[in-house]
Amino acid sequence: MAKKFSVPRGTTDILPTEILAWQDIEEKARKLSKIYGFREIRTPIYEESALFKRSLGQTSDVVNKQLLELAGDQKEGFALRPEGTASIVRSYIENGLDRKESISKLFYMGSMFRGERPQKGRLREFHQIGAEVIGPSAKSPYLDAEIIALAVNMLKSFGANDFVLKINSLGSAEDKTNFSKWLREQLKPFVSELSENDQGRYERNVFRVLDSKDEKAQKVIASLDIGYDHLCSESKAYFDQVKSALDQLKVEYVEDPKLVRGLDYYTDTVFEISCSSLGSQDALGAGGRYNNLVDQLGGPKVDAIGFALGIERILLAIGDREDTKEGSLLCYVIAMEEECFPRAFELLNTLREKQIPCDICYKTSSMKNQMKAANKSLARFAMILGKDEMQKGIVTLKDMKEGNQQEIEIDKIDNIIKVLRN
Ligand code: AMP
Repeated sequence: MAKKFSVPRGTTDILPTEILAWQDIEEKARKLSKIYGFREIRTPIYEESALFKRSLGQTSDVVNKQLLELAGDQKEGFALRPEGTASIVRSYIENGLDRKESISKLFYMGSMFRGERPQKGRLREFHQIGAEVIGPSAKSPYLDAEIIALAVNMLKSFGANDFVLKINSLGSAEDKTNFSKWLREQLKPFVSELSENDQGRYERNVFRVLDSKDEKAQKVIASLDIGYDHLCSESKAYFDQVKSALDQLKVEYVEDPKLVRGLDYYTDTVFEISCSSLGSQDALGAGGRYNNLVDQLGGPKVDAIGFALGIERILLAIGDREDTKEGSLLCYVIAMEEECFPRAFELLNTLREKQIPCDICYKTSSMKNQMKAANKSLARFAMILGKDEMQKGIVTLKDMKEGNQQEIEIDKIDNIIKVLRN
């Protein structure tokens, strides 16, 4: 027997029965990002591996363990994108966007790839919706608040309500260095109590210990008195302004001084949105400011901030929604006998020319079977054409939702459309 193929581990098919829920999210995200002044950008799904290594940091899990490098010409060294920011910054620099506009508000949507151990809510190919603001004029606490508000309002527009927004400030690059030194000092007496993995994190990137889900690490972290002492007065004032702007926008948040992000490039404001009903993979989205990344990647010294939301997790959080289960067909055409088919086919195509989504049963089997097919198609109406109808010059339009039916003259296409569109 021929081998049957399966989807690669950690990837999924998005089937037609699920697609309405995806399209609903995609349409709402596009609409809202436009309202906030963003324009869409599309970059390739793979880039030079070095781009991700330089931007995300060699010590991040994403680069260290999860980068999916493409086999082939090793001199080139390409990898599937694990996130969107690095590619967008590469494109920003390559296309000299800083010379064309003082602020670039960029929106994106697409697949991301990470070599993770798959589990519920954690895939190897997953989809993100994201936004990045980059440019010489991209530093304002109002912008930080706006980006956070956009992420929150997107989630609300998708129908997700049960989430918590946590915010924090890592401060400037200098504040971050001070914070890292302080944290190393604080954790030093407990290092031997940490798991091997967390001991490695302590050595390579101490912030990552704060991200640890390990019980021992959590206990040690809970005992630390982490506040905002590592922030200089300027960073503190900036963070206060971000919070006031969030209050002004009526965005609810919780301050969490222990929130750090796993990627190296963040400075100042960072945030994470989580949904407790999702279990261990509870982050719906996250983001933050990265004022030094463009410069580090060989671009101009400009500021930047962004976020990414994970579509699969959003779908898990909002659960099954009745309104995304409806079919997209308005009318299902049924020719009762073979000889009626050509006229039915003509009607079908006239309706399509008039932009009515419709389909037909290509096999003129029994009425019962064809009605079954009409039901399955989820079309609102069935249009029946049999010998009787042909003789009378009519079609029978059956409303599949209400159960009633009516006869309409076959040549009065506008009348037919009126009923269908009603
Ligand atoms: P990150 O770039 O890690 O901050 O991820 C941003 C968002 O993408 C997360 O909050 C998740 O919603 C989603 N995400 C990240 N990794 C995965 C994954 N492996 N599978 C599914 N969703 C993911």
